Amino acid sequence: MMIKVLGAAGSEVPGHNSPAFLVDGKLLLDAGTVAKALNIREERALRCILLTHAHLDHIKGIPFLLDNLVSRGSGTTITVMGGKEVLGDLRRHVFNGRIWPDFTKIPSASKPALRYKALSTTRSCRVEGYRVAMEKVTHAVAAYGYIVEDRDGGSVAYTGDTGPTVRFWKRMAAHDVKALITEASFPNRLEKLALASGHLTPNLLGKEIAKMSPPPAKIYVMHLKPQFEQEIESEIHALGHDNIGFLRSGEGIRV
Ligand SMILES: [Zn+2]
Ligand SMILES: [Zn+2]
Repeated sequence: MMIKVLGAAGSEVPGHNSPAFLVDGKLLLDAGTVAKALNIREERALRCILLTHAHLDHIKGIPFLLDNLVSRGSGTTITVMGGKEVLGDLRRHVFNGRIWPDFTKIPSASKPALRYKALSTTRSCRVEGYRVAMEKVTHAVAAYGYIVEDRDGGSVAYTGDTGPTVRFWKRMAAHDVKALITEASFPNRLEKLALASGHLTPNLLGKEIAKMSPPPAKIYVMHLKPQFEQEIESEIHALGHDNIGFLRSGEGIRV
């Protein structure tokens, strides 16, 4: 499984994009950055988006992706998947014919550019040849992480935004996960703010790793607020785990 990082930052400044991870060119984990990172051929190859939650920095690539696909007459349908609250927010507050067109009826209701598919946490499902499990994480709004496994033993767990959590780590322990992508948004000195907003600091991440049985061989940290990037990175190094890496836009990782 090849994962291309389209964005992995906790906010946007030049050189830092919102989170989106492209799996083997066809499946997106979150969609904070899409049209600015992919050409039209790559956009056409996309089939499905797994959304963790409906915060703007995780969804804002979708409106322009759909606009590009329709205006080029690509005939492609993108299936946006996630928890039903997350899809409900998209339907009501984004693709509502006011903020952006309702692409479930464009170019036609029978062959739309956008389709929603609600997933359940109780059973995993097949998506484009992958086995996908979804589980709740802890955030300011309804939010879910994913475990994606391919047929060749490749596997990744992705929390999206989360504060300290439990269920996702239990679910992850039931799978042979090779790599985890999770977050550390704030430095240790802003722990109160991190907890209040449903995020982690390096120290909180260290406590989460202690809950994993066992931690995956590789842990990638994303969603660092750019203004605290160096501080967060040095605090993560200070945790003393040698299997933790960081993700940057344009990089690819094999899992
Ligand atoms: Zn969020
Ligand atoms: Zn976010």
